[in-house]
Amino acid sequence: MRKKVTTTLVLVAGLLGVAVPVLAALYLAHRQSMDAEVRLAMTMAEEVLRRADDVGDQAITAYRSLAEVDGFGPCSDADIERMRRLELQLSSIEVVGRVDGDRLICSSMGLPPGGIPLGPPLWTSSLDSRIRPAVDLGLGDGNQFLVLQKANFAVAVNPQVLLDSFEDRQDFSMGIVGYTSRKLMSGRGAFNELWLNRLGNEHSAVLFDGNHLVALRKSNTYDVAAFVAVPVALLRSRLYSFAKVLVPISLIPGALLCFGIFRLARHRASLASQLRAALKRREFSLHYQPIMELASGRIVGFEALMRWRNREGTRLRPDLFIPAAEDCGLIPQFTEYALECATREIPRLIAFCPGVFVSINLASSDLHSERTIDLLRNLLQTPGIKPENIVVEATEHSFLDPQRAGLIVAGIRALGIRVAIDDFGTGYCGLSHLTNLETDFLKIDKVFVEAAGTESATGQVALHIIRIAKTLGLKIIGEGVENEGQAAFLREHGVEFGQGWWFHAAMPLEKILKLPSGNSGAG
Ligand code: C2E
Ligand code: CA
Ligand code: CA
Repeated sequence: MRKKVTTTLVLVAGLLGVAVPVLAALYLAHRQSMDAEVRLAMTMAEEVLRRADDVGDQAITAYRSLAEVDGFGPCSDADIERMRRLELQLSSIEVVGRVDGDRLICSSMGLPPGGIPLGPPLWTSSLDSRIRPAVDLGLGDGNQFLVLQKANFAVAVNPQVLLDSFEDRQDFSMGIVGYTSRKLMSGRGAFNELWLNRLGNEHSAVLFDGNHLVALRKSNTYDVAAFVAVPVALLRSRLYSFAKVLVPISLIPGALLCFGIFRLARHRASLASQLRAALKRREFSLHYQPIMELASGRIVGFEALMRWRNREGTRLRPDLFIPAAEDCGLIPQFTEYALECATREIPRLIAFCPGVFVSINLASSDLHSERTIDLLRNLLQTPGIKPENIVVEATEHSFLDPQRAGLIVAGIRALGIRVAIDDFGTGYCGLSHLTNLETDFLKIDKVFVEAAGTESATGQVALHIIRIAKTLGLKIIGEGVENEGQAAFLREHGVEFGQGWWFHAAMPLEKILKLPSGNSGAG
């Protein structure tokens, strides 16, 4: 079950490790390509509009010049000569002329008999300029001109002049439009007059209509707007080119992450299989650390502490392999193993030291499983082991689910086995949870024993713990006593029991059995 969960987690983490950076890269590529296209399209629209404004300015110059009365009549030779000079001065303008009705009666091209028909204007701008977007001036080359007329003056412009800066960008649609009329003055490619709705009161806008990304720019001076539209296919190809760079880069951290996860999972799996194999080979054993009655100095109990001596003969510390066993879900096997050893060895300890108790460490998951009660009940079936010979130790971490743990603790105590709260003060569990539990002993962690009586911040903690234990009617065991000062401190403050190297380190059973028997006695 646990393995399945781990495999699933590794798979999910692996997939996420690849998917998240790739998706992020694609999003980034999309943003980058869009941003780049928007910037480019807007710059081009600005340039197209600049050209259009320029044409407008030149047309006004021409109109003003034609309106001046210089003493010669309209369409006189001198007037035509003036128009020629004007047309040469005005770089964007091809023809300057005078209009009567819908006819160009004379112009910088001369005085054609009967004039040149222009046809009716297609619209009149909000500035009263009459616009004819495609007029054949009869030059014989079939060129269509954009003719702008104000009063009786007209200019003709080659509409391509507005767009010729971007001859090389035939893939973009672009043009100049009468803003009020919504009609095209000059343009190429796609155009949809609805695009202009987006401008509203603004002078520029960007929109995406599903087929094109469109940049719009409205003139500050004239009744015109410029547009540049980037087709969606072009956007996609730009996206691909960004993605081609970003996706492989994003795969590097993804791949590293997956590799890391895979290595971790393999390490876990190999640690789990090492621990399983070591259990099978019975490489673990129990050592026993005497617990002393502080007042009399007699041994009243032993804490069973697990030891691992592997095949290479290396001794490994339980605070390394017990947490690893917890991680790998192997605690049930370890607890069963410890209780098996205890079943064999405790009767010998009791025979040596009648009335002693042996304290067995339980892990957090043991306090959440009914099976622990069954195992302890079995232990009590062993001839020579009575309930008062057994204490179980549970750390504060075990009470993170206090209701569940409380039930198991009650079940254990119903067997007559006593319960100690281990490492008190180092966990995260609220004191209120612990006070609600029926327990028998409280073990003061060695960090507080070490600091007891010193000026440090933790120096006062031992005293608080002692006070709490007394209030709750619990017997106290001070752990990690390393010198007489610590032993005296505990004794003076009414702590009943002590355990630590000052008295004895943990030892194998055979060594315990060699201790002077006068050193021991019932608690
Ligand atoms: P613990 O329950 O707090 O055990 C006390 C630890 O303090 C033991 O470390 C012991 O050897 C050490 N100790 C004893 N006297 C002194 C002293 O005077 N000074 C100092 N500095 N240390 C002292 P050990 O044996 O390495 O065990 C470490 C932890 O591993 C234990 O902490 C316990 O949480 C866990 N553990 C050990 N055996 C078992 C077991 O069979 N089952 C479970 N679930 N956990 C176990
Ligand atoms: Ca312990
Ligand atoms: Ca402890």
